[in-house]
Order: sequence, then C-alpha cells, then structure tokens
Amino acid sequence: MESNILVIYTGGTIGMIQDPLTGALAPFNFDALYKHIPVLQNFNCHIDSYCFDPLIDSSNMNPAFWVRLATVIEENYEKYDGFVVLHGTDTMAYTASVLSFMLENLNKPVVFTGSQLPMGVLRTDGRENFINAIEIAGAYEDETAIVPEVSICFENRLMRGNRTNKFNAENFNAFLSGNYPLLAQVGVHIRYNHQSILKPNFKKLKVHKNLDPNVAILKLFPGITENVVNSILHIPGLKSLILETFGAGNAPTDDWFLKSLKEGIGRGITIFNVTQCKGGSVEMGKYETSIQLESIGVVGGYDITTESAVAKIMYLLGEGYEGEKLNQLLQTPLRGELTLE
Ligand code: ASP
Repeated sequence: MESNILVIYTGGTIGMIQDPLTGALAPFNFDALYKHIPVLQNFNCHIDSYCFDPLIDSSNMNPAFWVRLATVIEENYEKYDGFVVLHGTDTMAYTASVLSFMLENLNKPVVFTGSQLPMGVLRTDGRENFINAIEIAGAYEDETAIVPEVSICFENRLMRGNRTNKFNAENFNAFLSGNYPLLAQVGVHIRYNHQSILKPNFKKLKVHKNLDPNVAILKLFPGITENVVNSILHIPGLKSLILETFGAGNAPTDDWFLKSLKEGIGRGITIFNVTQCKGGSVEMGKYETSIQLESIGVVGGYDITTESAVAKIMYLLGEGYEGEKLNQLLQTPLRGELTLE
C-alpha cells in the first residue's frame, strides 16, 4: 500500500537551508522536497507539506499555536495515513506531550522530529531524522499503523512524545525517555518495540482544543525561602502548581513550607508532585520528607515528566476538571504518560 504523509513544518533548525551566495540561513522550500532529498522517491509513499506562516522558533511556542497545529491534523486526518511534524527541539517535548492529550483516539502516527544542525548544512542530522520519521509515519501492517501515537524520532530512536525531555543542547542525541522504553530503534532495520507501543482503539478522533494555562512550576532547591513559595502560590488565577521535588518526591519538612502548601490547597490550588530526576518515580510516603506532603493533599505524579505534567494539567483544566476528579485523573495514565508503580 502506498501511504500518504503530511509533513507539517512549524519552524526550527531542521527546515533551514544555507543560501549558497550569502551563507545566511533561510527556510527550506518544502514544495521542492523531492529535489532536495531525491531518496524520498524510493519510499512507497506520497508526501505533501503544510508550512506554518510565520514559522516560529519553538521557544515562542504557546497554547494558541498548539491549537492551530492540532487543527491542521484534525482537518487532514482522513486524507493522510501519517503526519510528520518538523519542530524546533527546544520545546518539542512540550508540544509532543500536549498533542498526545489533545488528540484523543489517535489511530495514526504523529511523528515529531527536528535537528541540531540545519538541513542545508553538510553534516546535518536533519536529513536522517526526517527520512526516519517519514518511514515510521508511513509504517502500516495489515492496514493498521504500527505506531499510532504521538512520538519523537531523533537520532535513531523513536520515543513516546509525552515521556521525553530535551537533555542535550549540543549532541545529536538530544532527547531522553528516562522512564519508558524506546518505541523503536533505528539501525539497519527499524526494530519496533511492539509491546511498548499504544494499541489503536479504532474510535473516531476527538480533538480537544481548550487549554488552560493557569499553571506554574516551582523547582525546589535547598535554601528556598518562604517568600518565594508564598509568592508563587498567590499568583492571581493560579489553579495548579507543579512542585518539582527531590528524588522520590521529597521536600523540606519546615512548618512554614507545609503551611504554605496546605493553605494553597485550601484555596483550591492543585499541587502536583513531580521529581526533578530524569529517571525514577515519585513515591510519596517512602521517606519522612514526603509523608506530610501526602497528608496535606499534594498529588503524586509517579514518573511523569515536568513537560508532560504541564501539558496534562493545561488539558485537564481546559476540559473543566477540578478538585478530586482532577486529582484522580492526574494520577491516571491517559495517554501512556505515566506508570503506576
Ligand atoms: N531554538 C530552536 C528551536 O527550538 C532550536 C531548534 O530548532 O532545534 O526552534
């Protein structure tokens, strides 16, 4: 079967090419894709492209752009077998996470990729990332997508999007999936890790477009002051605070600290406990330094990444969840973003 792929270019290094005369970087012309990468003709697929205008550096990413991106996928969902999203690496993990929540009942591949060096540079990693992403987006078996979820394909590895973070600004190997196995390893063959990939449910795609950004992140550090904690908990309109804690979900046991959090929770703020570690899980109650967090009503985030926590909270708040129901959904894997162990 020939697959139809839509390549969506949002901006970022991957789509840049060097003007041979001036040396300046300018966006790649996706209409001339086959001319730039003739090897694509060897794939049994048809590729169309959609370019955002203006293109953005992904550091300017925001919820309005996420809604536009989800809408492009929604409007083209029936027409294409898979989607490749070209995105700057800086916030790719956030966008892949939020898209995983926005696209409920996704049964087709949405593969994010980018690069550390522009496509138009000789040693670029973009060409290989792009070709791998296209192959994965078009991979079907018995008319069923092999990877029907939002993923990130980078430097020969395919990862679940909402399990990743960018951990290196220099190496080609820039993304980490610290708590979840790779979905595929790209070598001579693409070896899919079938048992770790979400199964399709064959239901109709439902796109959620309300995102509520009333969330903040507080990363703990030894010496953090009462002023800092109180200030963040008194941000007008704040509905949820992601508390980046130490190790397995631990925090200071000072009275002022617990009192501030407790008061915040009393005012209706959901506090979500996520570890600062890149691997491992929050286990509230394991140490004395997390027992009290649990008793005042802080919600444990298990092994969710901070990126995914931001995305999930914006999505759940946008859907109107609050209180106990919100707490319960935060602790429920909705798109494979956390493991309950
Ligand atoms: N600053 C760029 C961006 O995230 C870096 C990249 O393209 O990877 O858009």
